[in-house]
Amino acid sequence: MGEEIRDQRHPVAILSNPFNVFATCDIGEALDLLRKRGYEVEVYPDPKAPAKRLIIEKVHSGIDGLITTLRDQIDAEVFEAGKGTLKVVAQIAVGFDNINRADANRYKIPFTNTADVLTEATAEFAFFMLGALARKLWASEHLTRKNQWGFWHPYLPFLGDEVTGKTIAIIGTGRIGLAMIKKCAGFDMNILCYDPAYQNHEYVKAIRETMDLRHARGIQYVSFEEALSQADFVSVHVPLLHEGESDTPTFHLFNQRTLRMMKPTAFLVNTSRGPVIDENALAKALKENWIAGAALDVYEKEPLPADSPLRDPAIEDRCRLFPHFASAGKITRLSTDPDKGMAGRCVQGLIDVLEKNYGGDVKKMPYVVNKEAFES
Ligand code: NAD
Repeated sequence: MGEEIRDQRHPVAILSNPFNVFATCDIGEALDLLRKRGYEVEVYPDPKAPAKRLIIEKVHSGIDGLITTLRDQIDAEVFEAGKGTLKVVAQIAVGFDNINRADANRYKIPFTNTADVLTEATAEFAFFMLGALARKLWASEHLTRKNQWGFWHPYLPFLGDEVTGKTIAIIGTGRIGLAMIKKCAGFDMNILCYDPAYQNHEYVKAIRETMDLRHARGIQYVSFEEALSQADFVSVHVPLLHEGESDTPTFHLFNQRTLRMMKPTAFLVNTSRGPVIDENALAKALKENWIAGAALDVYEKEPLPADSPLRDPAIEDRCRLFPHFASAGKITRLSTDPDKGMAGRCVQGLIDVLEKNYGGDVKKMPYVVNKEAFES
């Protein structure tokens, strides 16, 4: 294929047949790693996502690789356009609910994601959201900025809730859920874990031992109902899974029925995917004080529409809204190192497939998600 002339991590190959790649978004310097290897890289220049028909047009033109963000709908239409030519879809995100896995498998197109490198960034942001909500950081800064801080008073105009020592429910104990547990253990929280598909008892035991040493509170797996009914904070770390994609789908996992299971003093934090929460139900729950507050980073429709019920001024004091920002650290998003940055990992996933690393065995490639499509 080509002579390798540089470092181990990103050996530069002089390719006789350069690969053609279309990126639906600029992902920074990591794209230069591809150009240095002789790839032809076209980048959609607008910061907004391209229309699906443009993606289809590019794929139809015969590109080898497609770099996508969570804003792009990748399904049978796209794979059909790339039949015989498209070899890989590389997504810059850990979540891949925008990619139709069954369609990718049918067309036998591997797709990659950028798990792990955003785990700590996302978990710490979830924790900060929780803190901002509980201690009313937004309302108290507004008070100061609007020059409405007239006096120091023991309880006026409002008080917050302490986080230390409280009970948190972690819904989904995968990579980010476990990282969140670590942050919460540092604040001596009592931790209730819920995950129907993956339970890491070894990790929970290790955290419990550290807590015991510090005479801190406990940690255990419980049922969804127990987690919701006992927690002061509920933090959501599940993938978006629709009916038919899982035995325990997460679409509208939080709805009128389940929100009513939470304590009226409890707070909900969501950094997973918007459709995991029924937003109309949440707006009602906040307005009618079924729960004390919510902090959201993700929405059913992004960007958050101007007429969203979550923007209702009546719930402004207890509803914190962020712009899908949890992984938005500079190194996390843009480092060209696949062990540090989403951009680096995205590009490495693409290179692995196109340059047939790991002996060309897709099942051995660490960033390929849909390995099941390549079982013989
Ligand atoms: P992961 O696959 O490691 O963990 C997800 C966990 O959720 C798994 O253990 C799974 O068993 C569990 N789960 C599945 N269905 C469940 C259910 N019904 N109830 C409870 N648990 C369930 O994924 P991860 O790396 O921890 O990421 C989780 C999600 O966070 C991603 O899929 C993505 O959508 C989202 N995310 C958002 C941001 C952001 O910027 N806001 C950043 C990173 C990830």
